[in-house]
Amino acid sequence: MTKDAQQHIDVLRMEELTDQLNDYAYQYYALDNPTISDQEYDQLYRELQALEAKYPEFVLAESPTQRVGDAVSEVFSKVTHSQPMMSLGNAFNFAEVNKFVEDAKRLVDGPIRFVCELKIDGLSVAIQYENGRYVRAATRGDGVVGEDITNNVRTIKSVPMKLRQAIDIEVRGEIYMPKASFVALNEQREEAGLPTFANPRNAAAGSIRQLDANVTSRRNLSIFLYSGVFSDQVPIHSQSDLFEIFPDYGLRVNPMYRICETAAEIQAYIEEMTAKRHELPYGIDGIVIKVDAFEDQETLGYTVKAPKWAIAYKFQAEEVETVVHDIEWTV
Ligand code: NAD
Repeated sequence: MTKDAQQHIDVLRMEELTDQLNDYAYQYYALDNPTISDQEYDQLYRELQALEAKYPEFVLAESPTQRVGDAVSEVFSKVTHSQPMMSLGNAFNFAEVNKFVEDAKRLVDGPIRFVCELKIDGLSVAIQYENGRYVRAATRGDGVVGEDITNNVRTIKSVPMKLRQAIDIEVRGEIYMPKASFVALNEQREEAGLPTFANPRNAAAGSIRQLDANVTSRRNLSIFLYSGVFSDQVPIHSQSDLFEIFPDYGLRVNPMYRICETAAEIQAYIEEMTAKRHELPYGIDGIVIKVDAFEDQETLGYTVKAPKWAIAYKFQAEEVETVVHDIEWTV
């Protein structure tokens, strides 16, 4: 085949993949009803990324690689984020994790530490406190503008309405539905003849984006906080500081994080958590590895849609299928 003919085929495939992925993203983000598995989605996404790297001049403006999340619904009022809420780059094997670690070590002067965390399978939220009081909550939306879900988030009992210190702070984290609540909700829906949710993430997203906050309040959602936008008032200078200080403010963090210095330590954490994941009362779809010091994070910077100082290691497809059985067996 000539080079031109190959290029023609590849560019057509790019268009096809862009259309398909946008359609899947619409089902996933707007309807909370995915039609393919995340693993299949990620595979098609990677195929598109590889073609776009080969033909950067043919990247379509509407390509999913150029945006975070999805369009913001008209139903909720809009909130412009104080700083963009980004996505995360993915790693699907240890070689990709090692490359992330090596690149970070090369670009940062001196010793560097990493924090490994569980990747909670929920939806991200930004919450504003003024003078220690809860004032606003917003979804990630397209990363720049989110939906105002202040009333709905107020119903989540693990979100404090008043912090233990009268500070101004924006905190970010993941709203999730515990596995047991997810199974119970789907059983109720099945009995009522309503469509069931594909996974706890979609159930959480569907529950939070309710016009009637009373519905949200009955859905038993919870939260883990893992980031924020901090003024000088807040003495947090690293991800590990955050995990220590947030609980003092009354903010819930996931305790299963670990500080690691080498790729081997990170790999050991991933292996340990992969084995433990079925025992957890909430769903996780991977492990997030972050450079610890904020100063080092700034050195590494950002791509158009994700920080270069963090990566999400995603679990493999066959393990996800086991989880579905697990959910059935745990209740
Ligand atoms: P992502 O899920 O790969 O990772 C980023 C998100 O991880 C953050 O926004 C945050 O919400 C979450 N997160 C959980 N725990 C975290 C922690 N400890 N620290 C930081 N972040 C944490 O990226 P995304 O942009 O939210 O979504 C893209 C993914 O959505 C795809 O990889 C795909 O798997 C899935 N998707 C699936 C379909 C489908 O049809 N099945 C369609 C679109 C997207």
